Amino acid sequence: MQIKYVDTHCHLQFPEYDADREEIIEKMSEKGIVGIVVGCDYESSRKAVLLAEKYDHLFASIGHMPQLIGDFDAHGMRALIGHPKVVAVGECGLDYYRVTNLSADGKNRQKVLFKKQIDLAVEYDKPLIVHTRPSQGTMDAYRDLIAILKVTKFLHPDYHGNIHFFVGGKAEVEALVALNFTVSFTAVITFARDYDAVIKAAPFDRILSETDSPYVAPVTRRGERNDPLAVIDVVNQIALIRGVGTEIVRQKLLANTLQLFDLPGRETV
Ligand SMILES: [Zn+2]
Repeated sequence: MQIKYVDTHCHLQFPEYDADREEIIEKMSEKGIVGIVVGCDYESSRKAVLLAEKYDHLFASIGHMPQLIGDFDAHGMRALIGHPKVVAVGECGLDYYRVTNLSADGKNRQKVLFKKQIDLAVEYDKPLIVHTRPSQGTMDAYRDLIAILKVTKFLHPDYHGNIHFFVGGKAEVEALVALNFTVSFTAVITFARDYDAVIKAAPFDRILSETDSPYVAPVTRRGERNDPLAVIDVVNQIALIRGVGTEIVRQKLLANTLQLFDLPGRETV
C-alpha cells in the first residue's frame, strides 16, 4: 500500500470496533491511510500490537494513561516493545482534567508513571505519544509537562515525540517545539474554532494529524463513533485554516509524521 495519510493516534483495538473492525481497516487500506493504534494500559497495548502484527498498514504504540488506575506494567511493556511494529511509547502523560480536585499526591503519582515511560522510550529510542489535559481554564498540565520534558531534553538532547490532541495555546506550542516535539490535532477542529489561531501559528513542519477514534467524529458525523478515515477531514481542515492547498498539507503532514515515527516498509505518495 502507498501511504497517503497517517492517523497518528487511534484506538482500533477498542470494543467499539468489534462488529466492523476488519471492514474499517480494509477501507483505510483503500484510501492509503496508515494508523498508529495506541494503547492506554498493558492490555490495550497488547491488543494494539496484535492488530499491528496482523495488518501491514497498522502500527502500535504501548503505554499507560495517567488517569487510569494501576501501575505501569514495566515487565509486560518490555516484552512488547521489541516487536518490530511498535513505533512509539504512549499514550502517557498528565491529565488534570478528568480528576476533579486532584491532590499534589495525585499529580505526583501521574508524574512518576510518566517518567517511567519516558525512561523506557529513551532506552529503546522510541518517540513518545503524550496525552496532556489541563484542568478547566488553565494550562497547568502543560506547565508541568514542559518542565518534565526540559529535563529529558537536557539529559537526551535529541529525544523527541508528539503531543496528541493538542489543546494548548501559542506559548505552549513554542515551548514544545523547542523541546523537539510535534503537536497533533483531531477532528474537533472541524467544529470548534478554538484551535484555529494555534494551527495557524504552529510551525508547518511540527504539525501531525490524528483522530483519537472512536472519540470526536468530524462535523459531518457529529456524535457518532469516529474512525481513522476521518484523518482526511482533519488534513483538509488544517489546509482550510492555514489557507494552503490540501495536497500540499497532506504531503507535508505525511513527511512530518515519517520524520518522527520510523514506520518500517513504508512507501509514500
Ligand atoms: Zn487516545
